[in-house]
Parts: sequence; structure tokens; C-alpha cells
Amino acid sequence: MTVRWGLIGASTIARQFVINAIRAQPNSEITAVMSSSPERAAAYAKENGIPLAVSTLDALLGSDIDAVYISTTNELHLEQALAAFKAGKHVLCEKPLALTSADARTMVAAKAAGIVLGTNHHLRNAGSHRAMREAIAAGRIGKPIAARVFHSVYLPENLQGWRITRPEAGGGVVLDITVHDADTLRFVLGDDPLEVSAFTQAAGMASGGLEDGAMCIWRFTSGIIAQSHEGFTTKFAGTGFEVHGSEGSLIAKDVMTQKPIGSVLLRTAKGEEELSFDREDLYVRSLRQFHAAIGGEGQPSATGKDGVWSLTSAEAALQSAKSGRSVAIDPNLGGAG
Ligand code: NDP
Repeated sequence: MTVRWGLIGASTIARQFVINAIRAQPNSEITAVMSSSPERAAAYAKENGIPLAVSTLDALLGSDIDAVYISTTNELHLEQALAAFKAGKHVLCEKPLALTSADARTMVAAKAAGIVLGTNHHLRNAGSHRAMREAIAAGRIGKPIAARVFHSVYLPENLQGWRITRPEAGGGVVLDITVHDADTLRFVLGDDPLEVSAFTQAAGMASGGLEDGAMCIWRFTSGIIAQSHEGFTTKFAGTGFEVHGSEGSLIAKDVMTQKPIGSVLLRTAKGEEELSFDREDLYVRSLRQFHAAIGGEGQPSATGKDGVWSLTSAEAALQSAKSGRSVAIDPNLGGAG
């Protein structure tokens, strides 16, 4: 069966990664793109070889498609996903699923049986993170004790738009990057966060009350504590992910990225070992899992529920930064404080 895709949003992420990932799947095609501007829709369709350009959701959902990829600005994800579900389409939605965890739960609850909802947390598909998860699950670092995520970058100039100026569109580094870090910590550790304490800052790039830097401290169910650093303003920081256990440490460098790069070192009493891992494109793997789920095999690499977890976590971090207190994380209730 061919999966026919409609793109909701003439976005950079679709152009740079996801269009290619959809086309890398056997039996898949992109048949339509929707932009709120008819001119942008037409130009985007032409540039990317997409047959149909439309400028309303009704026109997109009424066209010959089976699945939608939503990569508009964050305040639009909920209503677009709900409309797609109503039209019986599968939904791969960008993170954050919505602006609030309550809205994300509404999205997940609206999905009918037989319809697939995925959250595009690409980092779960990185060979590096999968190798770390497997090493931990196999006991190679003993009992995990603590983790550190280094994910402060410099926001490229072409993306210095709504993320740093528009709170109403879901801007800010926490909804942009902390959601990924919360998800990747859950995935690699195989554990869920219980509470978070966070500081945020405006270090010169973001305006309108938005934050462009954050440091979070997380406590997980098993007792693991973790820290994560997210930023838009650090040009030279590099990225990384470390997990330290009773019998060893995993030290990964350059792995909080969209590309299949980086290294993972395992250090134990026996010495140091570079772990080998596959270098498949993260988005291609994400789309393969999504297609398999449509075919009834398994689940998307990050489900709608995972998207609720990551947004609940990020929301709790924002609440903590505002209140100066640590905030409980409960995806069934939202970060209630
Ligand atoms: P963009 O800013 O490129 O696109 C978002 C929206 O902005 C588009 O839907 C488009 O509206 C509008 N837009 C784009 N270009 C222009 C322009 N030149 N002039 C006017 N409007 C324009 O966003 P991103 O691709 O960076 O992010 C989109 C979503 O994807 C977000 O939810 C983000 O969080 C997520 N994301 C996820 C990543 C991942 O790896 N999982 C990585 C990057 C982003 P319209 O469609 O109406 O034309």
C-alpha cells in the first residue's frame, strides 16, 4: 500500500529533513503541501516537486492523502491534528505537540483506534542514543546514578524568527529544545522524570519575555538525577550526553543534533571502549517506524504519549523557572506544581 502524505506547513524542517525521509520509504509519496499563503504554497511545492499546493486545511484534508506531517508553528498543531483525525488521517506531529500538556492530552485522546499518531522526537532514532540505551539496559555501567545533557547551541540565523519573538506561537528554548532533552533522557535511561527544577535566562537573543537559555535539574523515578542545558546563544559549546553509573560511564559527544554523527565512549574499570552504532539518517528511521505502525507493526519511535510526557516535562520546567520551586511532573495531570 502506498502512503500518500500531505504536508501541513511550508517549513524549514520539512525542506531540510522530512521530505527526504518520506521519499526514502518504499511505497510513499508526498502529494500535497499546505501553507497559509497561496504564493508560499505554490513556491514550496515547485521547489520540492510536490504536485498539489493548497492554502486551507480543508483543501489539504479533502485531497487524496492518508497521512499528514504537521510542522507549522506550535500554536497550530492541536487544531490541525484534531482536524486530520476527524478526516481519518494518520498524524506525524512536530514537537511540542501543543502549547500546553492539557492540549497535548486532548490530541492524544482524540485519536481513533487504527489511526497512528507520532511525535517527531528525532533523537530517539539516533544510533548513538540507541547504543547508550542498550548499554544501560545490558548493565554495562552498573546502576545508573546521574546524567548530563549538553544541548546549548547557536540558533542559526535563518531560524531566528518566531522562536525568539513570538510567545503566542510557542517560542522559547524550553518548548524548542528542553522537550527533546526530556524525551531523550526518558528514552536513554528507560525511566520517567518525577520532578524538575529550572532556571531560565534571556541572554540577548530572545525578546517578548521569552527565554533563550535554560538549565534544568531532573529527578527520575529510579532515583537517577540529571541536568540539562538548553540554549540558543552559545556559539562554541558543542553538545553531549553523559550517563554515570556504579560500574561505568557513558560519554557521548556531538550527539544532540539532527545528523547521525558523534561518538559514544564507555569507560569502566576495564578501560575505555568506543561503542559502534549505526549512522542511519534519524528522520529516515523515524519515518520507517511510522510507516510500519501504519501497516500494523509496532509503534512510531515516539508516540503521542511520549509527546505528552515531553511537553509535561517542559511545561513543568517553565513553571519551576517562574515560581522558583521544583515542580512535579505527572503526564496524567500536567505539571501541577
Ligand atoms: P519554520 O519557521 O521554517 O516554519 C514554520 C512556519 O512558518 C511554516 O509553517 C510557515 O507557515 C511559516 N514560514 C516559513 N517560512 C516563512 C517565510 N519565509 N515567510 C513567512 N512565513 C514563513 O519552522 P521550523 O521548520 O523551524 O519548525 C516547524 C516546526 O517543526 C516547529 O513545531 C518546530 O518545533 C519543529 N521542529 C522540529 C525539529 C525536529 O528535529 N524534530 C527541528 C526543527 C523544527 P505556512 O506553512 O503557513 O507557510
